[in-house]
Amino acid sequence: MDEKIRLGISACLLGRPVRFDGGHKLDRFLTETLGSYVEYVPVCPEVECGMPVPRESMHLQGDPSSPRLVTVRSGVDKTEQMVGWARQRVVELEKEKLMGFIFKSDSPSSGMERVKVYGEKNMAVRKGVGMFARIFMEHFPLLPVEEEGRLHDPAIRENFIERIFTLAHWRELLAGDGGRGALVEFHTRHKLLILSHSATHYREMGGLIARAKHVLWPQLVEGYQVKLMEALKLKATAKKNANVLMHMAGYFKDQLTSGEKAELLGIIDLYRKELIPLIVPVILINHYVRKFSQPYLQNQYYLHPHPIELQLRNHV
Ligand code: SF4
Repeated sequence: MDEKIRLGISACLLGRPVRFDGGHKLDRFLTETLGSYVEYVPVCPEVECGMPVPRESMHLQGDPSSPRLVTVRSGVDKTEQMVGWARQRVVELEKEKLMGFIFKSDSPSSGMERVKVYGEKNMAVRKGVGMFARIFMEHFPLLPVEEEGRLHDPAIRENFIERIFTLAHWRELLAGDGGRGALVEFHTRHKLLILSHSATHYREMGGLIARAKHVLWPQLVEGYQVKLMEALKLKATAKKNANVLMHMAGYFKDQLTSGEKAELLGIIDLYRKELIPLIVPVILINHYVRKFSQPYLQNQYYLHPHPIELQLRNHV
């Protein structure tokens, strides 16, 4: 990457004392591990829209599809204050060139999903979206977003980080002047990565590339980007990954001994049965790619979609 990836983040996750009680929610994976590879743009909707620290706590109230933001004890409606600020803030955030956003879960302002919404008799349903998070996601529908709580799930974590690194490659392509040739190269190098999420999307994206000469550039990249981000959002299951690994194993059919082939296929099968993590067959295939200088696979982002130090494939 030429530049560090820029991610928006709920400010309390960085350890900033901005919560209603003056506390924070420091997340060490985000600050210390992922923080080595990204530059964060902190946002605290409640403080930035003009509320003090400490402050009365708030919750969502009313219709879960369009709730109000109301202080819990005194019942003051803060919806207009939050919405007015949020609509301006998302426009300002366009300049930050964000690759994604990590929200604080359960917050009536920042929660991405399943936020409590209180109805009559003070009964809550977990069907809400934090007020700023909703406006952010409507404004940037294609940006990868996650919550710090969900990022404790290894598969969700790997998926989110893979999406932001792929988006960074995509933005590099858009910033360059390689035109349609660079797009074809991008598509080629991401083939196995996209296939590990969705063969259907890969085919549709291939169709866009095939018609590239007849489509205006802005429409072409817009259409391709929508498909790319849709595809990567779909879960890469053990079955889909195993199919990709088998495809790669086929590149070595003339070079491996029968014992080596049996070992490789056995390891892929153990992964398919979820008895070993994805990193094991990936390391073995990377070994053969280097040993036999396999040029096509060498360029596949599937084999190194994010820094190995993050250990994301050790747990999926
Ligand atoms: S959850 Fe959001 S609004 Fe609440 S303290 Fe954290 S950043 Fe601020």
